[in-house]
Amino acid sequence: MGQVATEALGAKLVIERDDLQGVIDALANRGFRVIGPTVRDGAIVYDRVAALDDLPIGWTDRQDAGQYRLERRGDPALFGYAVGPHSWKRFLHPPVERLWQAHREGDGFTVVENEEPTTPLAFVGVRACELRAIAIHDRVFLSGSFRDKAYTVRRDHAFIVSVNCGQACGTCFCVSMDAGPKVEAGFDLALTELIEEGSHRFVMEIGSAAGMDLIKDLPHRPATAEEIAAAERVVDRTRGQMGRQLDTDGLKELLQANPNHPRWDEVAGRCLTCGNCTNVCPTCFCTTVDDTTDLSGATAERVRRWDSCFTLDFSYIHGGSVRNSARSRYRQWMTHKLAHWIDQFGSSGCVGCGRCITWCPVGIDITEEAAAIRDAPKPSRRDADGGA
Ligand code: SF4
Ligand code: SF4
Repeated sequence: MGQVATEALGAKLVIERDDLQGVIDALANRGFRVIGPTVRDGAIVYDRVAALDDLPIGWTDRQDAGQYRLERRGDPALFGYAVGPHSWKRFLHPPVERLWQAHREGDGFTVVENEEPTTPLAFVGVRACELRAIAIHDRVFLSGSFRDKAYTVRRDHAFIVSVNCGQACGTCFCVSMDAGPKVEAGFDLALTELIEEGSHRFVMEIGSAAGMDLIKDLPHRPATAEEIAAAERVVDRTRGQMGRQLDTDGLKELLQANPNHPRWDEVAGRCLTCGNCTNVCPTCFCTTVDDTTDLSGATAERVRRWDSCFTLDFSYIHGGSVRNSARSRYRQWMTHKLAHWIDQFGSSGCVGCGRCITWCPVGIDITEEAAAIRDAPKPSRRDADGGA
């Protein structure tokens, strides 16, 4: 064990379970705020972690439409669960963010822009579907006419330790979306957890110069061919455990050709328009702004917060909401996600993480809705109300 010449891009190393603490410590010592999975309020959520004991050791999640439950595993896996209600967007694109403040000065005022975030973030335990979701947000926030300043700073300095999934849950369908379960790109270090009788270790792939630099002083050794094959078997097994599937063949055209399909009415009869699905979705990014003043009138500020296509206000234009029915709001969400997103950003807006299915209080399932429309397509027609 030691610092042999294994620190090359793409190199596969082995790091023992207890030595993973060194990765967290090294990140913290370099000034990163280290965020990882932890158990809180009966769910696995992302929060600050300082020690391996903060991780969900020996826990797994059982998920289905509208259902989430933690259960004990039969082993001490650190990453033996799928994904919880949080995604990394809450750190890269926070739910609430002040944009600027204005301070009254005599008859005028000065505007102070929000300070850029200074503490770099390190994410531990990022799954393949989540890496894909981050790549989608990069496209949205970094590559258009306007770059989001705060997102740019956070993203530029983020360090990503990803994990190949060792277990899928009942609502996962990343294979259908070609977004997992194996991490392909966008990480600094990638782990595959191997637990065998008497041994608990990680095969670690180096994905960047920063990853290479971090690992060079930590205990590791080259992975053997058998360990690399064992790591592949972990991912292959997970690939076969998908709880859902979505037929994406011609899906964009199917949805765009069916704005008046009766299924939209059927789903609207169940949808509460609560917006849970958009909150938990790792790719939904829409926001609104609130302007407030303090009681003295000396200070005003503009705050950006997550919004949802399920709120009436989101489509409010000049005296009324464009999408005033649950039918039109659900249809907007699903067709944007699976169809118009492709026209807008060049990829689907869904990575198959299954969160919207699990966390929908009435168990509406995007894969089931898409299949229902595929099974009984109806010719498009325009309603007198314009399809609202
Ligand atoms: S689909 Fe489910 S989670 Fe989304 S708005 Fe409707 S009831 Fe809420
Ligand atoms: S639409 Fe649902 S399954 Fe797809 S990325 Fe969003 S939360 Fe995950």
